[in-house]
Amino acid sequence: DRKEREEKPVEEQKKKKIGVMTSGGDAPGMNPAVRAVVRAGIFLGCDVFAVYEGYEGLVQGGDLLKKMEWGDVRSFLSLGGTNIGTARCAAFRERAGRLVAAHNMILNGIDALIVCGGDGSLTGADLFRSEWPSLIEELVSTGKLTKEEVAPYKHLTIVGLVGSIDNDMSSTDATIGAYSSLERITEMVDYIDATATSHSRAFVVEVMGRHCGWLGLMSGIATGADFIFIPERPPKAGEWQQELKDVCSRHRAKGRRKTTVIVAEGAIDSELNPISSEEVKNVLVELGLDTRITTLGHVQRGGTAVAYDRMLATLQGVDAVRAVLESTPDIPSPMIGVLENKIVRKPLVEAVKLTKSVADAIESKDFDKAMALRDSSFEEAYGQFLSISIDDDGSALLAKEKQLNIGVVHVGAPSSALNAATRAAALYSLSRGHKLFAIQNGFSGLIQDGLLRELNWLDVEDWHNRGGSEIGTNRSLPSENFGKVAYYLQKYNLQGLIIIGGFEAFTALEELYEHKSAYPIFEIPIVVIPATVSNNVPGTEYSLGSDTCLNQLVKYCDAVKQSASSSRRRVFVVEVQGGHSGYVASYCGLITGSIATYTPEAKITLRSIQEDIDLIFEIFANDRGEDRNGKMIIRNEQASSVYSTELIADIIKENAKGRFETRTAVPGHVQQGFTPSSVDRVNAVKFAVKSVKFIEEWNGSCAKEADVIVDSRISNAVVIGIQGAHVTFAEVSQLYKNEANVKLRKGKTVHWKEMNEVADMLSGRLTLRASD
Ligand code: ATP
Repeated sequence: DRKEREEKPVEEQKKKKIGVMTSGGDAPGMNPAVRAVVRAGIFLGCDVFAVYEGYEGLVQGGDLLKKMEWGDVRSFLSLGGTNIGTARCAAFRERAGRLVAAHNMILNGIDALIVCGGDGSLTGADLFRSEWPSLIEELVSTGKLTKEEVAPYKHLTIVGLVGSIDNDMSSTDATIGAYSSLERITEMVDYIDATATSHSRAFVVEVMGRHCGWLGLMSGIATGADFIFIPERPPKAGEWQQELKDVCSRHRAKGRRKTTVIVAEGAIDSELNPISSEEVKNVLVELGLDTRITTLGHVQRGGTAVAYDRMLATLQGVDAVRAVLESTPDIPSPMIGVLENKIVRKPLVEAVKLTKSVADAIESKDFDKAMALRDSSFEEAYGQFLSISIDDDGSALLAKEKQLNIGVVHVGAPSSALNAATRAAALYSLSRGHKLFAIQNGFSGLIQDGLLRELNWLDVEDWHNRGGSEIGTNRSLPSENFGKVAYYLQKYNLQGLIIIGGFEAFTALEELYEHKSAYPIFEIPIVVIPATVSNNVPGTEYSLGSDTCLNQLVKYCDAVKQSASSSRRRVFVVEVQGGHSGYVASYCGLITGSIATYTPEAKITLRSIQEDIDLIFEIFANDRGEDRNGKMIIRNEQASSVYSTELIADIIKENAKGRFETRTAVPGHVQQGFTPSSVDRVNAVKFAVKSVKFIEEWNGSCAKEADVIVDSRISNAVVIGIQGAHVTFAEVSQLYKNEANVKLRKGKTVHWKEMNEVADMLSGRLTLRASD
């Protein structure tokens, strides 16, 4: 249906006029959302109006309603906040204000609104839609408009995009801005960590979230906090003070030099009494700790959006336009969400109602319900936080005979979250009474030296934000000497092995599995935790380190674009990693607004390069002089064996005939990042805890848990991964047979195709091709 509409000539459709606004508190990603709506709207044959200053723009009309052109949203991808302004508008809360708003809209021919905001803004939007017919009637009966004038505007179409840093909306796993805010908090706490450790201080860090503890919980995991206070899981009134003291003094006794406590703005105790940062500080002072409070405040709203938010805002913005075009009066107003990594439409009113019910559940002290109403992974993440931060008091210890010896090894090129995952595996293992042995310097280290180092709590406790590999990594494989690998695994009596790495880790797993009849020790449970910037491990849509890589590329490409825009007539060809997998390039192209993206999945031809040169010419021809947006092409390092990055730049230069210059830029190892991103840290904990649970279950060391199911038919050698929003365990034998492209070292499934389509739509590449 959508395809038909997109293929239909514009004149056959009634030209839709869409208003787009940002409302409520600003959130990083709002600008990318507006860019996507404006360009997708124009591409799909609509007029798009920016409504400046939220609902104020509708109520005041005039210059606050502006028809947007393609070029008006150039550079929006990299800008924080919202360029079209946002406001809280009291007038719109009254019917009289909404009447004026309806009048202004009809004067401009607008009868569809895409609102990017929080639950308040979306509630206002839906109310506006339900009132619309009566507002129109009133405009006619009071003589403001004639029957003929209002005739084409019988129905108002509303589509909601959730822009909110709190991640507080139900029916979606993420809101636009939440991951950027989490990243900002994580960065700030990293800074605080350095000074806290230097002075052996305690810091109470207050983060946003009046009714929602998502930022508090996720930042608690990402920063290795000692304790967190979130509204959905309040501690027992009158008892939390002692609990806090116990946890912090236990960690100090183990040698930790700093104490970090995260307090969500809306923190309460089980009797709903607010818990302030000041109170928390006083408790820590009683413990004898030199304690400071840092209230992060508005830095949490600040700055340019992270890779994930740019992707989410862009894909959702495009879908919002499609939802407008597909809407009929009987379809309830949709809210664009994301569930299991897929962009979805959910009834807006129900999502808002569900969101409010979390606050109601907290109010009525039904905290289990409040937890359950959050997105699918919230409760699980809370359990993982407890596992690695609080449960070191002996309460989670297994009986002696169920305690295991587990090995961990890093394989392949370094990526940023190897240490974070190892730390989490160690902390969880220690809480259960297992021993975690780090194999030093990969399989070759094992083969040559047989060196295994038992990791203790203090060894790993500050590895949450340390990039690289503390235990050493390289590309060697068990096949260098199976006998020696088997010998040492046996010598240390390992009952499970965790291999952290990319395609080599996958290959190592397959080798061990294939040789288990010759070496029975290889029958122990072995889990690969995918960790590679290239995200090319079969069996998962995500690998640790790939989010850090994309965030590095966002910064790098923003800088490159700025350079290109300053010298005006310059095009950069940027070469990104990914091996033979186009995931990183495609994602990067989408979120940096490249003119074109060259991936191994789509063949580069002279013709395709020529088309892109035509596009560059057209863009420069339409340049109004004030165009400050640099031009960039993203090329995956293996996109073609013939058309190298240099050659593509030279071909473009030759064709430009002096009209513009070209340059190449290769970020190389910068893509591994220095410290892991917050997303990679949170997922490192998720993967690591679940991997150890898998090993426990396999050894019969614990009862089956709902979240880690070892099917009795599953083999011992698995890849843990994320498919949709679910953590999965996939057998290496099956993956090797069905899913792996061994020659090109990647999986066969291309799960990111939509990114290329949308990137081409928003860069103008599709328009040009359509007009050929
Ligand atoms: P945040 O998550 O940042 O609080 P929000 O969208 O919930 O974002 P609000 O201040 O609640 O922020 O709402 C923003 C604007 O939306 C209000 O100033 C008002 O103009 C409009 N609005 C909110 N609630 C309603 C309502 N019930 N009826 C009409 N308009 C509303």
